[in-house]
Amino acid sequence: MVAGPRSGRILPVTQVVRQTTRDLRRHNRAALLSSLYLRGPVSRLELVAESGLSAATVTNVVSELIADGVVAEAGSVESDGGRPRTLLAVRPGFGHVVGVDVSETHVEVGLFDCALGTLGTVRHPLVGTRLDPEEVAGLVRTGIAEVLEGGDPDVVFGVGIGVPGAVRDGGIVHAPTLGWRGVDFAELIHPHIQAPLHLDNRARTLGQAETWRGAGRGAERAIVALLGVGVGAAVATAGRSHPGITTSEWGHTVVKAAGAACRCGSHGCLEAYVGTEAVVRHYAARVGKEPVIGDESDVELAHIVAEAQGGGPAADVLAETGEYLGIGIASLINLLSPDRVVLSGSAGAIMGQAILPAVRDAVERHALDYLAERTEVVLGRLGPEAVALGAATLPIAQLLANGGRIG
Ligand SMILES: [Zn+2]
Repeated sequence: MVAGPRSGRILPVTQVVRQTTRDLRRHNRAALLSSLYLRGPVSRLELVAESGLSAATVTNVVSELIADGVVAEAGSVESDGGRPRTLLAVRPGFGHVVGVDVSETHVEVGLFDCALGTLGTVRHPLVGTRLDPEEVAGLVRTGIAEVLEGGDPDVVFGVGIGVPGAVRDGGIVHAPTLGWRGVDFAELIHPHIQAPLHLDNRARTLGQAETWRGAGRGAERAIVALLGVGVGAAVATAGRSHPGITTSEWGHTVVKAAGAACRCGSHGCLEAYVGTEAVVRHYAARVGKEPVIGDESDVELAHIVAEAQGGGPAADVLAETGEYLGIGIASLINLLSPDRVVLSGSAGAIMGQAILPAVRDAVERHALDYLAERTEVVLGRLGPEAVALGAATLPIAQLLANGGRIG
């Protein structure tokens, strides 16, 4: 939509035309840069076909983006009978972004280039009582300072933070699993950093990252499951340039009546069966030992996965985890009819491969046939720092919306 004069006063025709032309150019620039970023590398011809803009407009806007250093030529492809077509991509060195994952057990901070290549990460564990917002914010500030050490802070054009729970009014966090209600987390970070700050739910940012760069790419409607200590899901629906993403508290849907106690106060929640600490606790109960929880629970989960190769209690626990996860996914399939479900997050990276057959089997038994047969269940592709990378998509999304202009 082209915006008119805001104040409602009548502007001279020449001024209206100038303003409209400027808005249109800004819109075209944002649309083409988004296309290029999300689908790239692409040729000018592909951009023309996808955008519906004229070849002249595409050539002009692309020249501008190249002159500004946002876009660069990235090799070429043969075309049928004609000259090879030059490919275009966003220039990784245009600037850097910081992505921060605040989970229930750790703070992870990553520095990424503009194409979301990882330049460095640091991780600080959170232990039980250290969930005080000021202390968590202190670790976030420390982590940011560590990843930027020795680098030029001016090249960082944004910081994204993913948190559990809901974010309202630009930075107020409601996160029951952290015991936070109405915490102004942005205010605790913002005065200490130079770059603009963005906050959002971590399942949503992970969903955005898997859709942009990972296993959700190209899906019409992808459900990206965040499997960690907490369990959540993002539903990403394909759009022309920016896909729409919503989140849900999927981890707290009940999969077993009068089942295991959950951190939310209810019983039988999915998270109480498939969350990292839940799996570790079930295993510990079976073998009669103390559960390893907190930030070390990832290491213990990897141990259980290795142990399960020899059968025994570890294999039984993972089989049960796969069954409950499959039940949870079957409900999502019956409810939302996605074409792809992606198992992501730290626990997804650690145990995904081991439980995938059991998950698929349970999905087949519990989802409606005609819906399940058009849904594939796959593993995430972004690795262990997926959630921090997800947070880094927040400032990138802002850059795309601004057509590559910072600020
Ligand atoms: Zn719950």
